[in-house]
Amino acid sequence: MATKIKYTALLPEIVRPTCEIHILSGRCKGCGFCIEFCPRKVLEVSGEFNEKGFFPPVAKSPEQCVNCRLCELICPDMAIYIVGEEPERCGDGIR
Ligand code: SF4
Ligand code: SF4
Repeated sequence: MATKIKYTALLPEIVRPTCEIHILSGRCKGCGFCIEFCPRKVLEVSGEFNEKGFFPPVAKSPEQCVNCRLCELICPDMAIYIVGEEPERCGDGIR
């Protein structure tokens, strides 16, 4: 009979980093890339438009942010950035 292995016991402990999401709404052109590509679905379209007439993102669930900074990298106008702890990395993932 085959032995069952509990794989969860092999995974490292995951601790979510603390961070703050900063949105410079005046720079935003409402392309929605940050909203679309955020892996944690942290962002959504604001109900208010900026001075250029575009709808910037707002953080609907900032506690879900994992500080991956994909939004920062993908934004063509540098209108969003993250301040916070870098995740501690080891050979097998984020701790
Ligand atoms: S840092 Fe990552 S998880 Fe946080 S809002 Fe940006 S894309 Fe989403
Ligand atoms: S990627 Fe940048 S310009 Fe596009 S919606 Fe997000 S903050 Fe605005």
